Amino acid sequence: CRIRPWIEAKGIQRLLFLSDCRENGVEPIVCQGTPFVSEPEGQLIEMALALGKERAVRRAQSGAKQGLEDRVRLKGLPPTMKAPYGYQWKDSMLVPNQNYDNACLLWEMALKWFKIRHIGKELYRMGIASPKGKSTWQPSSIITILNNPAYAGRIAVLRYERVEPKQRRKDTYGKTTARMKPKKDWQYLENLVEEPIITWEQYMAVQERLELNRKYASRNAKRNYLLRGLIECQLCHRHYYGVKRTDQKPAYVCSNAWAQVYGKKCQAKSISCHVIEEEVKSKIR
Ligand SMILES: [Zn+2]
Repeated sequence: CRIRPWIEAKGIQRLLFLSDCRENGVEPIVCQGTPFVSEPEGQLIEMALALGKERAVRRAQSGAKQGLEDRVRLKGLPPTMKAPYGYQWKDSMLVPNQNYDNACLLWEMALKWFKIRHIGKELYRMGIASPKGKSTWQPSSIITILNNPAYAGRIAVLRYERVEPKQRRKDTYGKTTARMKPKKDWQYLENLVEEPIITWEQYMAVQERLELNRKYASRNAKRNYLLRGLIECQLCHRHYYGVKRTDQKPAYVCSNAWAQVYGKKCQAKSISCHVIEEEVKSKIR
């Protein structure tokens, strides 16, 4: 039988596969790639191949991390070149650009505890384009801005670490997934931002509030919306997703009808979760 992903495996993976085979009394036959060699010399060769690959992977990983750290610590250069909304890089400093006043406005509203959607609505009303140049502001792009400590004069670096992925799609191994480190482990570069918009205390206050929002949102998303993303709106062809209606009953709504508080809105009606789920279940049986 063919088990290509395993046959294409390299290094330790290959070694593990081989020992699994031997333990279960199966002799693998290789059609492509490096053939398995029989013992005892073979085991030594397999071992050597595995260790070589393993070391190469580890060297590449630690090299990348070291390089970034050198860039930050020794050269004083920004670890990422993407400037936050309202700023641009100039002589390795973040300096205000044409959107600086808009960014100030956004922060002013955030510090008055406007809701995220409300901030988006106001920016839209004032004709201020989103960072991506759209006329409407996605809540996520506002949250990205509010999460960025650069507005308080501190540039966060090395926020991500490499970890083992939960699921592998290819025959890779090692730490191929990036995960955001907890905020307490972030490191900051100071004195690289010209004219920060807010103070560190204000930044921390907004963070606290965003954290509360996150907790509140996840508590309210408990119900399992089985048909989420499976219903297509007949008016605008977007997907329906699950929400709790204002009467607290769960329902599916067109993604362009519910959350959209301004701009062009779809007129499609919501569908009660209970009604449609029963309907679908009866069709399946
Ligand atoms: Zn629709």
